[in-house]
Amino acid sequence: MTEQSPRPIKRLETSVVNRIAAGEIIVQPANALKEMLENSIDAGSSHIDVLIKEGGFKLLQISDNGCGIDKEDLPLLCERFATSKITSFEDLNRISTYGFRGEALASISHISRVSVVTKTKKAPLAYRAYYTNGNLTTSTFQQADNVDPKPTAGKNGTQILVEDLFYNVPARLKTLRSKGEELSKIVDVVGRYAVHVGGVGINCKRFGEPFNLVSTRIGMSLEDRIRAVFGNDIANELIKLELTNNDNRNELKSKYGLFGVTGVITNSNFNNKKRIQPVFFINNRLVSCEPLKRAIQSVVNIFLPKHAMPFTYLSIELDPQNLDVNIHPTKREVRFLHEEEIIDAISELIHTAMSSVDKSRKFKTQR
Ligand code: ADP
Ligand code: MG
Repeated sequence: MTEQSPRPIKRLETSVVNRIAAGEIIVQPANALKEMLENSIDAGSSHIDVLIKEGGFKLLQISDNGCGIDKEDLPLLCERFATSKITSFEDLNRISTYGFRGEALASISHISRVSVVTKTKKAPLAYRAYYTNGNLTTSTFQQADNVDPKPTAGKNGTQILVEDLFYNVPARLKTLRSKGEELSKIVDVVGRYAVHVGGVGINCKRFGEPFNLVSTRIGMSLEDRIRAVFGNDIANELIKLELTNNDNRNELKSKYGLFGVTGVITNSNFNNKKRIQPVFFINNRLVSCEPLKRAIQSVVNIFLPKHAMPFTYLSIELDPQNLDVNIHPTKREVRFLHEEEIIDAISELIHTAMSSVDKSRKFKTQR
């Protein structure tokens, strides 16, 4: 063993701290896209356009028709822990927006070049601003004193352009080589939101290509949104799932804080060979929930051929007081109370729905 004497402890420079933190929140281009998509939804948009170049590494652009950002707020837009969405820690108990940490745009600005054009309804003009490392910069992304956002022509809403993602994190660029793979992750996230958020139309394209990778319009039915994103094979074989008042919902609500479940699952005519992972939203947040996924698979194993997997979409509403949304940097996981009872209730819901379809099918073939 070599003898080691202690080295002095020093504070890291803020820019280093921020770049390290950014790397945890924005692991891959799809994380940046998800954060921006959520911001656009939080801003009350009814239409969102997404444009991607080279798997999102070269360019990610998202344009919305939401509330826009006041000119006075632009200096704080990419500052870490600056948010318009909460003011106290307790606000997390009743949160109805996706954002709350004020970290996303800050993080993105530490590992890419960000430019923004935004216009609120009351402003006569739009404003354009450029950011790196959390701060407003000049159009060439140089730090300078007194860089003011410039007036420009523009529609109501916000357009955010992220260029050269991870340009200053070479190790990340090396480990995330495949543009194709990153593109499909982005399209997957956009598609999941397009299915879940009925009040918004979402289009997603590759730069320079005319056709849409995802395309939904505001007001489409859930079935049509699933058709638009996941195709006819799935949309034609859906069983509706709904936990309604005449189930034992009152007890589930008062005892376990399960306010409601809606969704769909495919019947035994469809086998999810591509293994599209279940689409779970808990209190409108896209999450992965392994225990729920496993429970659903063991219910459907009763009805489906061996090794077959269904396609599932579930929107679960829990008492926000029982839900911790702040356990993961990318918010991909959440934790909630009474997990076992809630998963049991959902399994039962799926079992009932699938067995009634199964019965009616048998009945039909018998006749
Ligand atoms: P958070 O969403 O946690 O507040 P962000 O870094 O994602 O943090 O965004 C910071 C702030 O910028 C938001 O609170 C919001 O006020 C504003 N903002 C970001 N994107 C948009 C947008 N598309 N439209 C309107 N305001 C936005
Ligand atoms: Mg946000």
